[in-house]
Amino acid sequence: MTAIREISCPVVTDAVKQLFLEANTMLGEDVLAVLEKARKTEISELGRHVLAQILENTAIAKESAMPLCQDTGFAVVFLEIGQDVHLVEGDLYEAVREGVRLAYADGYLRKSICDPLSRDNTQNNLPAVIHADIVPGNRLKIIAMPKGGGSENMSGTAMLVPAAGYEGIKRYVVEQVRAAGSNPCPPIIVGVGIGGTIEQSALLAKKALLRPVGQPNDKDERLHRLEQEILHEINKLGIGPQGYGGVVTALAVQVEMMPCHIASLPVSVNIQCHVARHREVIL
Ligand code: SF4
Repeated sequence: MTAIREISCPVVTDAVKQLFLEANTMLGEDVLAVLEKARKTEISELGRHVLAQILENTAIAKESAMPLCQDTGFAVVFLEIGQDVHLVEGDLYEAVREGVRLAYADGYLRKSICDPLSRDNTQNNLPAVIHADIVPGNRLKIIAMPKGGGSENMSGTAMLVPAAGYEGIKRYVVEQVRAAGSNPCPPIIVGVGIGGTIEQSALLAKKALLRPVGQPNDKDERLHRLEQEILHEINKLGIGPQGYGGVVTALAVQVEMMPCHIASLPVSVNIQCHVARHREVIL
């Protein structure tokens, strides 16, 4: 057990604001490295040209502190709250929401959230989607993920029959990417969640996207093999960078898994475009 530590909610607000400002203007070194590698391995000349433009765009965005893309995303926030953290001077969720609001206002980031029926814009990019886990310790980890609509739209969940097995999972994921075509702005990163319940598989698929891009699942050799086999199949589809054809449709496939009910085999695919934005801090 660690000593109880106080963390002030206004500190959380500042951290969340900074994370969304940075995430929207800077890609992580892991993403840049796989994009550079893709530029070397792509056999299509047009595909290589697209990848060069993507890399130039990331450099301009970083230099000028401008958004990497016009779609500055749905604000998804993952919190890992140490059980020995005492949050003071406010309400944690309200502090997170205020950080999001300030980032999108002060950073002139596009507000992209609306009422699903009236389509009226909420004008402040709120609400945020907040996933919170209680963990041991006295630290607070915050991960900010602005999630673009184009790639989120191409995601999906299937309740496969258990007999579908390993090959059925592969077929479902590859078919999801084939059907998406150029819509999620490839090259993409494919997050896959297997097992749990319907909502848990979707959350696993999203959490899989938080792993450094291209870092294999080192907890389970079967999943490492599944990631490689699905990536191979996807890159045979010929969709290529931005859908102009080529061998780099996906930069990585990242799978997370948990046990499921004996009658079920839930599989979720969360597609992430090449603007794979997430930043984190530990308070
Ligand atoms: S899918 Fe990604 S790259 Fe395409 S418009 Fe949305 S955020 Fe931008």
